[in-house]
Amino acid sequence: MPLNLKLEDPTLLASDAFIGGGWHQAASGGRFPVSNPATGAIVAEVADLSGEEVRQAIAAAAQALPAWRGRLAKERSAILRTWHDLIVANADDLARILAAEQGKPFGEALKEIAYGATFIEWFAEEAKRIYGDVVPTHMPGRQILTVKEPVGVVAAITPWNFPNAMITRKVAPALAAGCTVVLKPSEETPLSALALAVLAVRAGVPAGVLNVVTGTHAAAIGAQLTGSPLVRKFTFTGSTRVGKLLLAQCASTVKKTSLELGGNAPLIVFDDANLDLAIEAALASKFRNAGQTCVCSNRILVQDTIYDEFADCLVRRVAQLQVGAAHDAGVEVGPLINRQAAQRVLRLIAGAIEEGASLAVGGTLHPAGANFITPAVLLDVDMGMEISREEIFGPVATLFRFRSEEEAIAMANATEYGLAAYFFTRNLARSMRVSAALEYGMVGINEGIISTEIAPFGGIKESGLGREGSKYGIEDYLEIKYILVGPGE
Ligand code: ADP
Repeated sequence: MPLNLKLEDPTLLASDAFIGGGWHQAASGGRFPVSNPATGAIVAEVADLSGEEVRQAIAAAAQALPAWRGRLAKERSAILRTWHDLIVANADDLARILAAEQGKPFGEALKEIAYGATFIEWFAEEAKRIYGDVVPTHMPGRQILTVKEPVGVVAAITPWNFPNAMITRKVAPALAAGCTVVLKPSEETPLSALALAVLAVRAGVPAGVLNVVTGTHAAAIGAQLTGSPLVRKFTFTGSTRVGKLLLAQCASTVKKTSLELGGNAPLIVFDDANLDLAIEAALASKFRNAGQTCVCSNRILVQDTIYDEFADCLVRRVAQLQVGAAHDAGVEVGPLINRQAAQRVLRLIAGAIEEGASLAVGGTLHPAGANFITPAVLLDVDMGMEISREEIFGPVATLFRFRSEEEAIAMANATEYGLAAYFFTRNLARSMRVSAALEYGMVGINEGIISTEIAPFGGIKESGLGREGSKYGIEDYLEIKYILVGPGE
């Protein structure tokens, strides 16, 4: 174990792939380094699988399916509940692993572990509530039944920005429904996924029910997962670009598909808003995870009558944000995931300045290291600039000016994305009008952080398909079977 990662339980740091209940190296012997984005230090060397081993994992999941779907819901629920309890009991270690491979401040990592665990708790409960219907009949002497059945083997591909929670909110409903899973975590953050698998074994998840395939050959692994006829459901969280590719690949076997893709969230501040509340919410929504979430406010739209006051306050607060490595005391903003990400954000800032925006604070490389960007505020951004169309994925707040409610709504909706939107107002009628007019899957009114396991998370337009969490989240892992019972005589 590397010196910089001290764990109470070192066995949580697994680095082989997990297939059919066993830990596997790549047949080629290949491994790839996972590095700490803050320091560049290697955290672990992880098995770099080929397509052949992915096929083995799919076969293992298919083999485990009949027994797992045949278990009583109450038994699956109890195993999930035990898994949840083990995650909570090991939260510190899991957060250490997560922070080391992903870079977010340790406090945020701990919050992610707690948040990730809530999906397992929630779906352990939902496992027992998968009801069908008895439909009033259309002909005398017949009965119409609908039953819900697990869709089958599920393949999941997950990103690096929430290396724990993006997994639990797919795997927990899948397992609760009676499906088995092959999971491909991001090559940037496979260790959190493998640690979850270690605890799944301890919780009693049977061999083959959860498989974790690790590797850098993302396209080859993705081709196996999307192309296999044994996989009946494909679920992805990541960029819109890759999501579209994978959706097209799923067409050849007509898989049930869920996608959580990019966003371009507007955060609208009307002149009747509580400004202090709006500033704090904008900070939380924009700078959490160094701006690397798909629901981060990507465009802050401020009514012109309060624009200058809002901008002054925001700039003052952003200048105070503490930047540093995950374990440094008081850190609020960590590094970006890698050097390319940091360079991309610097390029977006430079482009915006060239197009007429002005940089009020930050926006340069931070002395903490090559992947750190000083939290920035760009003023006078407009909808013609490239930065207004791109998902920034960095600690850069962009302020836009608007005059009327109609203009704010038009600006907010002028994007191919439709994930999350936020607005701030004290006017009830406006709250109703604007929330109805926003073309988004999720709307926060006077709130900047809205994710919770009990509410449906998901987008419309090019932000995705399906919902995760809530009573709806399990539906994506179920099929409806209609049964007509005739008299038989
Ligand atoms: P981001 O890195 O912005 O989160 P990506 O869409 O690049 O978004 O990555 C999300 C996940 O998709 C990761 O697990 C990554 O390895 C995987 N991935 C990237 N490209 C492909 C591809 N061509 N086929 C299958 N999976 C891919």
